[in-house]
Amino acid sequence: MNVKIDGKYYSGNKGETLLELARRNEIEIPSLCYKEGFEGLGRCRLCLVEVIEGNSTKTVSSCVYPIRDGIEVLTNTKNIVNMRKDIIFLLLLRTPNNGYIRKLAEEYGVKAPSRYLDMEREEDCILCGLCVKACEKLGTNAISLVNRGITKKVSTPYDDASKDCIGCGACAEVCPTNAISLVEQDGKRIIWNKTFDLISCTRCGKCYSTEEVLHHIDEQLGVKTQEYLCESCSRRLVGEKFKEAFQNLI
Ligand code: SF4
Repeated sequence: MNVKIDGKYYSGNKGETLLELARRNEIEIPSLCYKEGFEGLGRCRLCLVEVIEGNSTKTVSSCVYPIRDGIEVLTNTKNIVNMRKDIIFLLLLRTPNNGYIRKLAEEYGVKAPSRYLDMEREEDCILCGLCVKACEKLGTNAISLVNRGITKKVSTPYDDASKDCIGCGACAEVCPTNAISLVEQDGKRIIWNKTFDLISCTRCGKCYSTEEVLHHIDEQLGVKTQEYLCESCSRRLVGEKFKEAFQNLI
């Protein structure tokens, strides 16, 4: 499939979205709620682009728009840039103290008059829902978007320490604005009001995961882990086994 983006032709694969095609070809389209490996959510709307198809032009979220042969895409028209600025302005009002949003606003030259900014406001979440998606894919569906209107937020059921959360940290890892607090101290991990004991690597002694995560992985794979190894020790072990096998061959 041939797609013209900003005057140049690119070849796309069936099922690919505009944003995926653009990222694969190093074309810059901003986005906060897109993460490689997850399907697009179309929530933050920063990835808006113009699509020209036949005689019609429309504005779409590129992270959820599947490519079609022969379409033309404009990623940086005045109209698109102005819409992105409006979105950033609203995000700035919601999270006036968040470093990531402030940096984005600076990049786009977006300034909010001080009378609109509540600098006392301690909010970092932009409600993009990427953490919810990460928990659905990698965790245990422990969090969701709850409430409506101005009270909408991401939370565990009733804001309590969730019995389902395994403390994997995937939600905090994908958050584009660092809004989810994950604290590790003295062999413990605290996330979503729940404290987990961290397991040490049997080889090097480094604390690297919660017991709940390892049980979850065992359950998914239908195996029983005998030795708990951190990522680098696992890699080293594979290397050692490979070397041993190779030496036995020669
Ligand atoms: S830490 Fe808990 S809430 Fe976050 S992704 Fe893992 S299971 Fe889900």
